[in-house]
Amino acid sequence: MNAETEQLHRPGKMRLHTKILLGLLAGATAGVVTNLITGGGASTAEFIRLVTEPVGKMWLAGLIMVVIPLIVSTLALGVAGLGDIRRLGRIGLVTVLGFLGLTTLSTALGLFMVNTINPGEGLSPEVTSRLMETYRGEVEGAMGLSQGVFNIDILVKIVPRNPVAAMANGDMLAVIFFTLMIGVALTLIPREKAKPMVGFLESVASITTAIIAVIMKLAPIGVFCLIFSVTARFGFDLMLNLLKYVLTVVGSLLIFQVVGYPLILKFVAGLNPMEFFRKARVVMLTAFSTSSSNATLPTTLRVAQDELGIPREVAGFVLPLGATMNMNGTALFEGATVLFLAQVFGVDLSLGSQLIVVLMSVVTAIGVAGVPGGSIPLLMMVLTMVGVPMEGIAIILGVDRILDMCRTVLNVSGDMVTSTIVHRFAWKGGPAPDAPAGD
Ligand code: ASP
Repeated sequence: MNAETEQLHRPGKMRLHTKILLGLLAGATAGVVTNLITGGGASTAEFIRLVTEPVGKMWLAGLIMVVIPLIVSTLALGVAGLGDIRRLGRIGLVTVLGFLGLTTLSTALGLFMVNTINPGEGLSPEVTSRLMETYRGEVEGAMGLSQGVFNIDILVKIVPRNPVAAMANGDMLAVIFFTLMIGVALTLIPREKAKPMVGFLESVASITTAIIAVIMKLAPIGVFCLIFSVTARFGFDLMLNLLKYVLTVVGSLLIFQVVGYPLILKFVAGLNPMEFFRKARVVMLTAFSTSSSNATLPTTLRVAQDELGIPREVAGFVLPLGATMNMNGTALFEGATVLFLAQVFGVDLSLGSQLIVVLMSVVTAIGVAGVPGGSIPLLMMVLTMVGVPMEGIAIILGVDRILDMCRTVLNVSGDMVTSTIVHRFAWKGGPAPDAPAGD
């Protein structure tokens, strides 16, 4: 990791965030120009299908490929490094309070904005039915992934009967649970028995970090292809119909990012927000271009430790958990979208129902997979709960990718903000002297 950091900072060499930004701008410009010239026609669609989409997807898959070993190694080492269960309890409590606090605040902001702006009123019925028709197939696909209703099984599945199957299926909450158990067990067994496993996990963490460093070198190409694929075939006319909704969601996300987080950083974490965001640039750019908290996790971990000075034990605990469980932007988007669709369908949501929307957005965001569009199946579940037709999701699917890019920036920023809060309030006295991971 240090070798990578050194390389990234070598004078005269372009820094990684600059390269990613260039890839992003070039991809967006090329995509928009292509869209304007060809109107997103058949040849453009073929080019995207055969060239930019596969390249972008392969790059993204390369990052996601190492997420399970990265989460297992960093989280287990993080917990083991805390040394005893009381410290874990304190850090765990502040982490969960941070996650829940930030998510509730962001969701409330989203609901407040939609209640004030009313983007769902005035959307013409022709536009609504045309969109529902166009995206019918995709909705049916997402229905298969949605559980339909929120039930107790979701909770039961957090404890995996078969951890290997959980890893194979990408059941992140179950993987996290199993990993936490390994971390805790490492602190309970004699030091010499823990040592080989800790060594193994450290080796896995180093190997994944080395792989990520190689993949991130290709970031400008991957980002170019991902952004080109979105913008070249994006229905900008669709965006015009939904402009009020898109601006409400993006505006709310922006307010939370540039006002909410800085206030929390300054008054809760005691940090200079400008400095924080300057150091976190590469993380935000990666989140924006990949739309995936999981794909961004390696970069988030590196920046938190190397740039923000968060101890490995804290970063290794808070960030892997956050990439799965803490989705401030997603919860804001879910709350705002449920209310918007309720307005479109003329479903009057009472204050009580809106509180249920806040609660369910916060709870379901915990289970959202940190991948592009991960929230859609859970959003459908919340819609059903408050009596808004879940097929209505079709109305926003066409603009979802752009919203996804923006909300993912909040998701990962919220993880880093929480890690600074945990660092300040729960990390007392450095690593435990007898922690097995401290070797
Ligand atoms: N793309 C988001 C993430 O990975 C999840 C979502 O809101 O769909 O953080």
